[in-house]
Amino acid sequence: MCRHLAYLGPPTSLAELLLSPAHGLLRQSWAPRRQRNGTMNADGFGAGWYAPGDPVPARYRRAVPMWADASFADVARVTTSTAVLAAVRSATPGTTPDEAAAAPYRDGRWLFSHNGRVDGWPGSVAALAAQLPPVRLLSLEARVDSALLWALVQERLAAGDSAADALAAVVEGLSNTTTGRFNLLLTDGTTIAATAAGDTLCWRSDGAGTVVASEPSDDAPGWHRVPDGSVLTATRNDVEVRPLSVPARTRPDLP
Ligand code: GLN
Repeated sequence: MCRHLAYLGPPTSLAELLLSPAHGLLRQSWAPRRQRNGTMNADGFGAGWYAPGDPVPARYRRAVPMWADASFADVARVTTSTAVLAAVRSATPGTTPDEAAAAPYRDGRWLFSHNGRVDGWPGSVAALAAQLPPVRLLSLEARVDSALLWALVQERLAAGDSAADALAAVVEGLSNTTTGRFNLLLTDGTTIAATAAGDTLCWRSDGAGTVVASEPSDDAPGWHRVPDGSVLTATRNDVEVRPLSVPARTRPDLP
């Protein structure tokens, strides 16, 4: 996925969050403003959201561009939630093209997305795959680098890590084994964790809720850029950013 977003806050419709903003995910699917790799995100999209009384989030995913799915616009207009994770995809070459590879990936109450790539996929992944038990490898959601990273995160969550600790441990471990871009995004509907490791990430938190996103959805004030080489934790009212113990990329940040 090349642009992603997570939200916690007062009930809002998926359309208000994703489709209406001048530079929201819909617009980012064909005209992202800060994307460092690729120019469009037309290889699919997905949204996951939490409904009252059910800890397992619902997902709507498609292999078509977000702008090409009129049914999503209709559903998004009348679907409201206090917690959402959504993404638009620019596929890494050689990966599954269908909706199974579109984020968010899910495990119980968790939703996950990856903006970036594992360099050299799939030839480069032997060392990563070796860290996973066979049952986890056989349960990959799709044949895609992002699903492999999700499996590594799932292992950390299953071992009891917090969301931010799981993402940090995986990204720090990756820097010893492979190269690539590893902006990860994870929520359980009450907390958001995210890494900035090779691509852009920002956040805004105010009375309208907390948004963590690859890039700002509008030009209103209040957006903060996350420095590369960081892990972020957010709740409805609070955002914390701490450095990862990996070298930050040297490429200068875009405005
Ligand atoms: N590697 C992921 C995929 O193929 C994400 C790609 C991206 O961020 N451009 O879906």
